[in-house]
Amino acid sequence: MALEDLTDPNAVLRSLDEFRALGQKQFLRKYGFGSSRGWMLIDTDGNEYDAKAIIGAAHGYQYPALGPLPQSGFYGGQPTARKLRELGFKVNEPAARRNPAWTRDELILALDLYMRHRPLFPDDKHPEVIELSTFLNRLAAITSTSPGGSFRNANGVAMKLQNFRRFDPSQRGKGLSRGSRSEAEVWAVFADDPERLRSAATAIRTAVPTLEHDPRNFPEGGVAEAEEGRILTRLHQVRERDYRLVERRKMMALRANGALHCEACRFNFSAKYGERGHGFIECHHAKPVSNLQPGEKTKLDDLILLCANCHRMIHSRRPWLSLEELRKIIILD
Ligand SMILES: [Zn+2]
Ligand SMILES: [Zn+2]
Repeated sequence: MALEDLTDPNAVLRSLDEFRALGQKQFLRKYGFGSSRGWMLIDTDGNEYDAKAIIGAAHGYQYPALGPLPQSGFYGGQPTARKLRELGFKVNEPAARRNPAWTRDELILALDLYMRHRPLFPDDKHPEVIELSTFLNRLAAITSTSPGGSFRNANGVAMKLQNFRRFDPSQRGKGLSRGSRSEAEVWAVFADDPERLRSAATAIRTAVPTLEHDPRNFPEGGVAEAEEGRILTRLHQVRERDYRLVERRKMMALRANGALHCEACRFNFSAKYGERGHGFIECHHAKPVSNLQPGEKTKLDDLILLCANCHRMIHSRRPWLSLEELRKIIILD
């Protein structure tokens, strides 16, 4: 099931009909697409349709047994536009506009590239700069930062490397003077910790292919983005919501202690809530986020039991707390 399989212009016409009948908002909701922010199919009357969602729906019309393509199933932007043009439709590129600010994930990957080449600063012709540009577009696609035509192009990536120079003591007075606060933050967290930087960058890169099949937004549920960015925050959440593992971890504690206690504050749900609280507790994945290895199995030992309050406090802002740090701030009454 792929973008390439779509070959029937009539299937596209049928999704245009449906788009008109439902209206943009309903149509996007029905097929689970966000707005394509600028990549628009233009019909002969000059009406605009979100190009990516049209393709997704058209696939379902051409292959009813397979159904529509999901948003995460293919790339928007250029590939989508190319396909529609091939089928004889007109697609407008997004008007030039400011690209969204760089996210932590992106800055971590850029800083990693910077550190590996320092004191040289690869320009927009360098293969690694070009590779990172491509990768950032892929990353944006899964986190629905739906990009425009110039999004994180090689030139933008090369400029970002220059932005880091202003923090670099070995580059005093060089590089660009303007820049964002997140650049300073990412520099402060990672510049002196090459190992953490390397493993965060590697983990982000390895996690992306898995998350490309997971279209949900993240982070979810009152969780602040980790210092390592959105991708690894998501991976952390996926790990600690592994239902079977969580159940095994709870069984282990029940067998050992006869009860489930929060490992930070000792709260016991069944002591407080009786029958309703029986067997209730949350699991927190205690492995540092930058050490997460995509594909690696979660170990029971990596999970700690926490009451909902303590778990929320750990994740409530950056940096997340370790169990020890949380224990230290708990005020005992
Ligand atoms: Zn607690
Ligand atoms: Zn957690």
